[in-house]
Amino acid sequence: MLMFEGVGKRYPDGTEALADVTLRIPKGQFCVLLGPSGAGKSTLLRMANGLVVPTQGNVAVAGTPVGPASLPRLRPRIGMIHQQFDLVPQSTVATNVLAGALPYISAWRALAGLFPETYRAKACELLAAVGLDESHLARRASQLSGGQMQRVGIARAFMLDPLLVLADEPVASLDPKVSRDILDLLRRQSRLRGATLLCSLHQLDLAREYADRIVALRHGRVAFDGAPADLTAQS
Ligand code: ADP
Ligand code: ADP
Repeated sequence: MLMFEGVGKRYPDGTEALADVTLRIPKGQFCVLLGPSGAGKSTLLRMANGLVVPTQGNVAVAGTPVGPASLPRLRPRIGMIHQQFDLVPQSTVATNVLAGALPYISAWRALAGLFPETYRAKACELLAAVGLDESHLARRASQLSGGQMQRVGIARAFMLDPLLVLADEPVASLDPKVSRDILDLLRRQSRLRGATLLCSLHQLDLAREYADRIVALRHGRVAFDGAPADLTAQS
């Protein structure tokens, strides 16, 4: 589903963020990118949706090379979840979730708040699935707790039945209990909807608990790639 082949990234200022990363992530896998800040996790995640362009190697999603020609087609099929949630604070929960469907709605309709009924129904279904009932729909994002904001982020990411969901430190701003709730929801939605999930984390214990597979990055290189049970503290 997701392939990185000999991928490297050197930023214009000379920072070598990634070197020689090769990974094949099969459909439906929950793969955690584990590593400390600066290891290259965000850089690798962002290559999967074309936000970072590799300076070496190739990236492909569902057999399609990621690049300017394919991105308009691929982007709507790739959900993204952010550490700081990335919601529009003054917009309602419903509007924030519907923003996930914007690529398929004309600009004037979206501006007028005219979201087709099918999308509204989908937004409600997803919000219910992440534990936000109808009483939350009309609330402003700014009124929610961090955990609730990330639930909205998950619902938004799944609006267009993504092939792939990229989660960049989705629980780094949340306490341990809420973090587990969020990772549980992410795993459950991905399984239910057949999405492949690539998720960066810096906590070993959470990675061990939730991942099907852990890829540990250290200074831009793969230091470990395997089952959680095989990861020792040294690797
Ligand atoms: P993270 O939580 O992924 O560690 P950072 O705080 O390192 O995030 O980075 C936040 C933003 O700053 C990102 O968009 C990243 O690309 C950019 N950034 C990080 N390091 C540098 C750098 N050395 N020079 C320029 N931009 C950077
Ligand atoms: P992580 O997500 O694991 O924190 P990043 O991919 O954000 O790691 O960063 C990897 C390295 O690349 C770090 O040294 C960071 O400072 C650097 N970096 C990230 N974004 C940029 C950027 N836009 N320009 C220059 N350096 C960057």
